[in-house]
Amino acid sequence: MPSGGAGTVGEVAKTKGEVMCFVDLEPCSVWQEDHVKKSRKEHRCQCCRGVIAKGSSYVRHFSVFEGDPTSEKMCGECEADRGIFSEAHDSQLCVPSYFPHLLADCIADGDEESEKTWRPMLERIKARKVAKP
Ligand SMILES: [Zn+2]
Ligand SMILES: [Zn+2]
Repeated sequence: MPSGGAGTVGEVAKTKGEVMCFVDLEPCSVWQEDHVKKSRKEHRCQCCRGVIAKGSSYVRHFSVFEGDPTSEKMCGECEADRGIFSEAHDSQLCVPSYFPHLLADCIADGDEESEKTWRPMLERIKARKVAKP
């Protein structure tokens, strides 16, 4: 599975003068994500910072990037959003806590796809933190 830790987002010129976004993530040496169907206690999603309620499903993420292990949890909603983003960006996945930054980097002012898809996505990720204090 293509995956990565730190990365960059840039723009490449497509033909016809359009601009397409690409993400370039450095590969992690270890990448593991498990789905936990029923949380036994309350957790915090490290992507949106919202609460993962007891009994709900979440993703348990573990990766190692340049020798540094990362252990995080991510709520199902953030996983779905990251999946949509990944599909549009060469199937690359990033660690949960990095996703909002990567998404923010992807957003270009006035870009149609940014305004239609990525900005609302970032807004709903932020809203989850507010909705679930
Ligand atoms: Zn979340
Ligand atoms: Zn992008």
